Amino acid sequence: MTSDQPNCIVCNRTSEQVPLLQLRYQKSDLWVCPQHLPILIHKPHELADKLPGMDLAGQPDAHHHDL
Ligand SMILES: [Zn+2]
Repeated sequence: MTSDQPNCIVCNRTSEQVPLLQLRYQKSDLWVCPQHLPILIHKPHELADKLPGMDLAGQPDAHHHDL
């Protein structure tokens, strides 16, 4: 897998396989496929490990589980 090719942050599929939507986050360009865009919208905490430092405080339905 080539890292210089845009790929979905969740499933790692590339734009060769699926349409990708570009995201801008902390000076980086990220990509997500339409299938996983709802996760970013509705369950951003599931992507917390993909997006370090993401502010989840504004998410009304964010669940905070004790590890
Ligand atoms: Zn995906």
